[in-house]
Amino acid sequence: MEEKCLCEPNEVLVFSCSGSSNVGQIANLTALKLTREGVGRMFCLAGIGGHVSGMIESTKAGKMIVAIDGCPVACAQKILEHAGFKADEYVQVTDMGIEKNHGFDYPRSDIDKVADHLSTQISKRRGLAA
Ligand code: SF4
Repeated sequence: MEEKCLCEPNEVLVFSCSGSSNVGQIANLTALKLTREGVGRMFCLAGIGGHVSGMIESTKAGKMIVAIDGCPVACAQKILEHAGFKADEYVQVTDMGIEKNHGFDYPRSDIDKVADHLSTQISKRRGLAA
């Protein structure tokens, strides 16, 4: 694996499916939490889906792509792949033991669980890159 400097949070781009379900919104809020905590920076998946040239170029310039999908339909992963990108770190919220439903009620602990998992994975990768 190519070693990369990941010193700056802005170099870690976080994409979330932000889908219309509990797990989609947990994915969205996880991306927001990682951004607020300085782990990475949430980026616009819709811009990638729309092939917006500036966003495609910014994503190419990023050093690490993190993708969060709510469920195995894997919309974020597919959108990224369609634009020629592959996530370096990837998680599906349902793989974290959180069941999908179409309501929007979820405990804060669900967001913390996914965010903690990704923070650990990103930190490990930062360690590899150091
Ligand atoms: S991955 Fe699942 S939750 Fe996310 S947008 Fe697609 S279908 Fe909805």
